[in-house]
This record gives sequence, structure tokens and C-alpha cells, in this order.
Amino acid sequence: MYTDFGKDLDNVYRIKMDKQKRIALVAHDNKKRDLFEWVTFNKETLNKHIIYATGTTGRILEKELGHINKLLSGPIGGDQQIGSLISEGKIDILIFFWDPLEPLPHDPDIKALLRIAVVWNIPIACDRSTADFLISSPLFNDEYSRNIPDFDQYIKRKI
Ligand code: PGA
Repeated sequence: MYTDFGKDLDNVYRIKMDKQKRIALVAHDNKKRDLFEWVTFNKETLNKHIIYATGTTGRILEKELGHINKLLSGPIGGDQQIGSLISEGKIDILIFFWDPLEPLPHDPDIKALLRIAVVWNIPIACDRSTADFLISSPLFNDEYSRNIPDFDQYIKRKI
């Protein structure tokens, strides 16, 4: 659970992200090749960070990256596991190549994962060009404090 966030001097809640990021990688079947190629190209940078992935994506990518923290396969709970890790402050960046051309049985989980990533204001890349921009940002390998909403007010709201 989060215990380490509080208001900064300017009265904004922030969460500090270390230089070494915890990155979640997920790709739907038609996008796995795309992610594999992206990971291969960026292997050197990615190896400086801690990688998580849904089950099948992780099994494919570990051939390139070595150790990956593999979760369940997406449709049987892996997406929700990543969402849960984001809520607990244990994932800093989400690279999620989802398939815009095919309906999938775990659509609610996909939506939930994208939603929770925005709730916690973590950087998300859903396609390769955004992932290129993200990984080439100087912030990718540096410390960064991201703003989060004032959940305190929400929790104490009058009902
Ligand atoms: P997979 O899951 O990596 O186990 O294929 C991806 C997904 O569908 O969310």
C-alpha cells in the first residue's frame, strides 16, 4: 500500500519515481511481434529497469530481456494484477500494445487497466510510436515526481 505520498510545499500530492523504473509490458496476440521488436531494439535501456509482464507476453520477451516478473496471462487475471500493482505504487510505466481491431473476451479488464493507469497518472504507451517517444525521453532514466489527485478529499467526502 502507498504510505509515502504526501502534499509537497505547493500543496500537491506527488509520488516519486526512481531512476530505475518498474515497467509493465503487455501485448495482445496481434501486437506481440510489434512489442518483441520494440523490446529487442531497446534492450539495453530496458535492462536497466525492472520489468513486469503478463504471462504470455513475458514468456516471449524473456528470450530477449532475461528475467521478467511474469504475472498471470492477461485474460485470466494478469491485466488485473498489473492494475493492482499500479494502485499499490509498484509500477511506474505501462507499455500496453492492445489490439484495436479485434474484440477480446477480457475487454472490461483492458478498460480497467487503462483507467487505473490514468487514475494514478503513470505514463502509458499504447502503440509503438508513443513507446518510442517515451523511452527516448530523458525522464525515462531519471527521477520524476508525478502529481496525483487529492484522494484524501475523496476519501473524506461527505455522503
Ligand atoms: P498475455 O496477456 O501476455 O498473457 O497474452 C495479454 C493480454 O491479453 O492482456
